[in-house]
Amino acid sequence: MTKKMMRAARMHECGQPMELEQIPVPAIRPTEVLVKVEACGIVPNLHNILTNWTTWFPHLPLPKLPAIFGLDPAGVVEQVGDQVYDFKPGDRVYVNPARYCGSCRSCRSGNTTGCSAYTFNGYFGFTPRSPRMFEDYPYGGLCEYMPAPQYSLVKIPDSMSFETAARLGYLGTAYRALLKANVGPTSTVLINGISGTLGLGAVALALAMGARKILGTARNQTLFQRVKDLAAPGRIEIHSLDDGLTSEWVEQITAGEGVDAVIDCMGPGAPADNLVDSVRALHRSGHLVNIGAIAGDVPLDLHWIMDNDLHISGSAWFTSGQGQAMADMVESGVLDISFFEHQVFPLDQINEAISGIENRSGGFSNYVIRP
Ligand SMILES: [Zn+2]
Repeated sequence: MTKKMMRAARMHECGQPMELEQIPVPAIRPTEVLVKVEACGIVPNLHNILTNWTTWFPHLPLPKLPAIFGLDPAGVVEQVGDQVYDFKPGDRVYVNPARYCGSCRSCRSGNTTGCSAYTFNGYFGFTPRSPRMFEDYPYGGLCEYMPAPQYSLVKIPDSMSFETAARLGYLGTAYRALLKANVGPTSTVLINGISGTLGLGAVALALAMGARKILGTARNQTLFQRVKDLAAPGRIEIHSLDDGLTSEWVEQITAGEGVDAVIDCMGPGAPADNLVDSVRALHRSGHLVNIGAIAGDVPLDLHWIMDNDLHISGSAWFTSGQGQAMADMVESGVLDISFFEHQVFPLDQINEAISGIENRSGGFSNYVIRP
């Protein structure tokens, strides 16, 4: 019997173009499903990131080459394993790329993000145990069929396109950060980098979670009005980083109250001063959660943080349960993410799609491969 074949984009050498190849459709294990990939979200400029990866992030393992990358797949369940309980062929799903072992102390205590082998399927790993995880899960989303553990699946409603679902990674990162900051109807939230890919997701989720007021900072003013138009007039206000200190603007616009939460979504290479200044914009007992790309040592006044009972933390990705919550909010209409402009590429244009597209509209653009 000949094996069923599929197309896959594989990278043979870091930073080199991906090659389109025919490989066998993978078999699944009893607790997995086979997903026919309909859309896979990509980070534009992935080539540059992968070219520089080993220098920038030597402590974060990459999959063994040749590798199938692709972090944010969505598609249809094609086949289910014998021990799959809650999914059936035909289900529309998003595949959360967070892989965890299930057997370490963190996993057994229910904190799977704390797994000592935590790994992004189709992208990179976070721990020295990640290379083993890549051997167990070698298929990212840039191919036609991929196996996915049942624990990784999010059921998406019919009203949610596969292209939109392929954006759940960025959205979920912002959602988890907002949850950590206890954002709700009484909250005023400050989002640094508000018009970017992560920042816009944070806006959409903060609106869905009922935030009273959303403040934002950014440098590129061309998108300010578009972002403000996502809510009723006055609910979203934006400050240009060229117009002075964020803390002074927040002081003025909140009549001295400050914000309850800061979500920092600044992009790679951004200086840290705005993040440091934002700590001064927090109301007592407020939270600053960093999900942006500011790197290296950042000078924070620990005494100020203690005296004001502040919480400063990072946040990594999101659970499948949190992914399901977002899909459910889309279904009920509470979460509106209809503003994305999908830029869809077929698999054979993968290299064009990821080699850095100049004219994107900040976070409004959504780059998707349709295998
Ligand atoms: Zn674990």
